[in-house]
Amino acid sequence: MAAQPRLIIFSGAGLSAESGLPTFRGDNGLWEGVPIRQVCHIETWRENFRAVHDFYDARRVAEARAEPNAGHHAIASWQQAWPGRVVILTQNIDTLLERAGCTDVIHLHGGIRGLHCMACENEWEIKAVPYDQSGCPACGSRTDVKPAVVFFGEMAPRYDDLHNIVRSLRRQDTAIVVGTSGVVLPADRLFAHSPAHSILVNLKPADQMDEEAFTERLYGPATKHLPALTAALRERMG
Ligand code: NAD
Ligand code: ZN
Repeated sequence: MAAQPRLIIFSGAGLSAESGLPTFRGDNGLWEGVPIRQVCHIETWRENFRAVHDFYDARRVAEARAEPNAGHHAIASWQQAWPGRVVILTQNIDTLLERAGCTDVIHLHGGIRGLHCMACENEWEIKAVPYDQSGCPACGSRTDVKPAVVFFGEMAPRYDDLHNIVRSLRRQDTAIVVGTSGVVLPADRLFAHSPAHSILVNLKPADQMDEEAFTERLYGPATKHLPALTAALRERMG
């Protein structure tokens, strides 16, 4: 008997855009007007220590005020409809999928509520408030405390999960890639060039990915396209 079909979601910043959390912008990569290199790079974060924490403090407060949108809710409804058969991978560091009801979300780039100590590898969660600079609760270091967000140039431990899932894709599976430019992770190579039925949902066409390789391409807001996919997914998931 063929294994039951699975649904894999691979989301990026565009999924949360309609909740009011901006995506990356500009050729050199600006995030909320700040050069990514300044606040999101493992080689420069210590020299920009204050700016790094100010930046993620502001993101943490902003994301706590944002609400999940119809796209997040659609994904949560699929996970509830097909227990154990939906895998949710996200590049987002916000908590909107969880707040829509999703569980076991694989955060490929970490989470905005987390802090990580580079001295002792301790990782812990704080509330949706600015970090009070009190240092690592395990070793006491103040200068080694970094947001638990994966920076450029840093290892991403959960990429192992991503690659294992990609390797396991079969033709009865569906992969929905939503709200990602493909600049940070090559969603086309990972999912469109796989045996799965692949669906791209992005606001508009772009040239960073081989978009023709996706089985289906849906351009427009995620809040419109994701809920509208439910009927077709019922067919595919059986
Ligand atoms: P990106 O900013 O590079 O690309 C965003 C993509 O979303 C674009 O292709 C755009 O067309 C699409 N998009 C924009 N609005 C949309 C909408 N309403 N509906 C559907 N699609 C829409 O995003 P990325 O590829 O995820 O890379 C950004 C990196 O920055 C990620 O690694 C992530 O960790 C981080 N980031 C996270 C957040 C967040 O957690 N909410 C926000 C910004 C950046
Ligand atoms: Zn420590």
